[in-house]
Amino acid sequence: MRIAMIGTGYVGLVSGACFADFGHQIICVDKDEGKIAALKAGKMPIWEPGLEGLVAANVARGRLKFTTDLAEGVAGAEAVFIAVGTPARRGDGHADLTFVFEAVRELAKVLDRPTVVITKSTVPVGTGDKIAAILAEEGAPAGTTVASNPEFLREGAAIADFKHPDRIVVGADDDRARHILKEIYRPLFLNKAPILFTGRRTAELTKYAANAFLAVKISFINEIADLCEAVDADVQEVARGIGLDNRIGSKFLHPGPGYGGSCFPKDTLALLHTAREAGVEQRIVRTTVEVNDARKASMAGRVAAALGGELAGKRIGVLGLAFKPNTDDMRDSPSIPLITALLEGGASVHAFDPAAREQAEPLLPGAEFADDPNAVAEGADALVIVTEWDEFRALDLVGLAQRMRGDVLVDLRNVYDREEAEEAKLRYFGLGRPGPSAQE
Ligand code: NAD
Repeated sequence: MRIAMIGTGYVGLVSGACFADFGHQIICVDKDEGKIAALKAGKMPIWEPGLEGLVAANVARGRLKFTTDLAEGVAGAEAVFIAVGTPARRGDGHADLTFVFEAVRELAKVLDRPTVVITKSTVPVGTGDKIAAILAEEGAPAGTTVASNPEFLREGAAIADFKHPDRIVVGADDDRARHILKEIYRPLFLNKAPILFTGRRTAELTKYAANAFLAVKISFINEIADLCEAVDADVQEVARGIGLDNRIGSKFLHPGPGYGGSCFPKDTLALLHTAREAGVEQRIVRTTVEVNDARKASMAGRVAAALGGELAGKRIGVLGLAFKPNTDDMRDSPSIPLITALLEGGASVHAFDPAAREQAEPLLPGAEFADDPNAVAEGADALVIVTEWDEFRALDLVGLAQRMRGDVLVDLRNVYDREEAEEAKLRYFGLGRPGPSAQE
């Protein structure tokens, strides 16, 4: 099927490449000329495992193309996906739909046939209705309909998630849209991936409910980790003990420095905004947002506490900047408030991330960037693990300790055990582990 993808970011590019791999004819459209020029030259604008090869293979077979020209992108398309960004609006946390509505207005003018327009972007309940109204207002061909197909892929595992999804949610209020989406996802359907057909509004809300629930889970285990520290229990074992219960599940029960990324922070805020407008209280999600904000803000205090309360003049090595491993995405990363506060406290910061340096540098003026963990450790009073990249899981702690001036290891991802850190003569401060705690 001829499909257009408007917006060629993390979601649009991965979805476009995977749809092409299913055998569809895809044109990915983006306003960003640099991005499209890079893609045409075979360069990926994002760091995502496996993406470069997938894109190259499908470009070579003539199934995947890139353009900045919307009319060219949608010519002859039976389905058009919208995968532009929906960031949080400054001030009220509402999803900023400027990019979506702008794309729809431009689209209405160039559609050459009745088309199914599908939002893949995460959009608040009722956005599909507004898109339908704009399409009609701007003179889109009669018979053009609007569906919702929220995306659940995770950065860092995006291709595997897209090709082996836990479920596909399709919100459509008409038979044609349902039929087209079934055809698009036929290869996954054949693979027995559950496809859930719902009303459009239900699909829109399902995405926010999913992200809010995962955010709740993370904040829950973070608070349990604090309690563990206070009562000398081990949160790793508590998480395993509860996660083996199928009703709970073991995923998203890893304590950390607070959730970040391009989705949970903005989607929880947007859900709260929707609820406020609907006059319905969402106390659990509101509290989760507060807990997470406080957690991110408290991480520098943990580092200071581990250093005996003083940051001024200290040299701190930071391992990991991206909001999670296997991505270069720095959006709302917990490393940003942490490093900013460390610098404000008078410390110097030397940081290393395997992929996110380019994205991180403009966001962290004042920090120094190193090329490897050894350089980060050189002369450091403390090392802080912020992102659990695989390559930080088997560090030579003895070698790192020898390069350091001090002996503090603050492990905000519980990658190491106290025993192995102590064997390397490092004083260990994890999250929710028995023994000395850096909780303020
Ligand atoms: P992104 O910022 O990486 O990409 C968006 C792209 O859209 C940019 O390249 C931008 O140039 C382009 N764009 C904006 N307006 C355009 C227009 N009028 N025409 C053509 N291109 C235009 O964003 P993303 O992370 O891919 O997220 C896209 C949507 O998917 C968001 O709603 C997000 O919440 C949702 N989502 C993201 C993830 C994720 O892991 N990143 C997962 C699930 C859902």
